Amino acid sequence: MNEFVETVVIGAGPIGIETAIELQHRGIETHVYDAGPVGHTISWWAPQTRWFSSNDRIAIAGVPLHTVDQAKASREEYLNYLRGVVDQFHVPITTFRRVVSIRPIDDSANTGSNDSDTGGGLTNGVADGQTKAESALAPRWRLGISRRAAATDHDPPPDYFLDTHAVILAIGGTDFPNRLGVPGEDLPHVDGYLREVHRYHGRNVLIIGGRNSAVEAAIRLHRGGANVTLCYHRDQLPDDGIKYWLRPEIEGLIRSGSVQAFFRSRVTEITEHAVSLETTDDDGKPHRRSVEFDDVLPLIGYRQNTSLFRQLDIVSDLPSGAPLYDAETMQTPRAGIYVAGTAIGGTQSSRYQIFLENCHDHPAKIADHLCRERSSRADSKGATHQSHGDPERANSPRGDQGLRQRIELQPES
Ligand SMILES: Cc1cc2nc3c(=O)[nH]c(=O)nc-3n(C[C@H](O)[C@H](O)[C@H](O)COP(=O)(O)OP(=O)(O)OC[C@H]3O[C@@H](n4cnc5c(N)ncnc54)[C@H](O)[C@@H]3O)c2cc1C
Repeated sequence: MNEFVETVVIGAGPIGIETAIELQHRGIETHVYDAGPVGHTISWWAPQTRWFSSNDRIAIAGVPLHTVDQAKASREEYLNYLRGVVDQFHVPITTFRRVVSIRPIDDSANTGSNDSDTGGGLTNGVADGQTKAESALAPRWRLGISRRAAATDHDPPPDYFLDTHAVILAIGGTDFPNRLGVPGEDLPHVDGYLREVHRYHGRNVLIIGGRNSAVEAAIRLHRGGANVTLCYHRDQLPDDGIKYWLRPEIEGLIRSGSVQAFFRSRVTEITEHAVSLETTDDDGKPHRRSVEFDDVLPLIGYRQNTSLFRQLDIVSDLPSGAPLYDAETMQTPRAGIYVAGTAIGGTQSSRYQIFLENCHDHPAKIADHLCRERSSRADSKGATHQSHGDPERANSPRGDQGLRQRIELQPES
């Protein structure tokens, strides 16, 4: 018999944690699984990277986020904060476990998927003599879990299974760095992540991209003693979408020649020591050059691992590949499968629209829906509501309705 948990949150990012706390608060049993550590996405940011969003917008579960200098939180401060929130609310989390499959246990959960592999026997935690219709907690989904946490395009087979009534996919949207699609991009000195600045000291570094990550990396690596070149495919850095305090600095560095910039330029090939660049000149003609670099950093955004969405057949036909869901309940077309957090945006292009700060209403919507579902099941059985989640607690002070209203009124950071 597989272990049974009433709800499973996949992803211990800020919204996964906030969802788990909301569910616990309403009396709904939950467990969080993450392929990495708590706050995995933030953990791979370069050390001392700061949030763009202000602290009250990235605070979760009503717990204030204070920084020592009142500035926007750094990666380290925020990870510290997340650990504290998890401990304060005793959020049950298993880290370094990747959920690799989600299968319906029977047809009641599956409203159209062709995927009928249930992964084994249908023992499901319902007491002997009790039918599923009588149980408010009837297992509907079987999760396959792998101890191999790394994200790859081909998920590993599950090591064990877990049964659950509802799954909340709070899996974010930044699993893999975007690829350039040129020869040589898998060489060891090509890296889609900025590492600790110290390691680049004295090295020739090519940064590809022109948005926040690339611009911030160019400034930090220049200040850290690297010889930095920026390669961007447009005429100039974009007018919007760059942190307002970075723009004057990078423009000054480019003007003074401290950072070399190739605009209207693309990388066409990377070899062990050199990069082939093609620049479109003012007359429209391509100009090719080969430049030697020690490190090549394509910082051109990240894409979502859509494997679970594809298994569930809930991928929309939007270019982002965002999942299908009901904005009132966050439920997907599969009963008992919800999405939360930035996962709803799929793979966001250079103009991000779904941020942490506009996802704080997802946990309450999901908890409301689960509570309503449990109540209506209880009604159909003639039972009382007491043990079936408490919708009234949705408006508790912990929910911080004030913050949600402020965010709606002022969508900009
Ligand atoms: C440099 C940088 C700066 C940023 N600055 C900001 C900012 O200022 N403001 C802002 O709002 N956003 C910012 N972002 C984006 C920010 O990372 C997200 O807004 C935030 O992390 C979203 O939280 P989330 O809980 O929705 O998802 P995530 O934090 O991405 O969490 C998703 C979690 O799901 C886990 N997971 C995924 N698939 C599985 C699986 N199959 N099994 C188990 N676990 C899984 C991942 O390991 C991860 O921990 C920035 C991103 C970067 C890279």
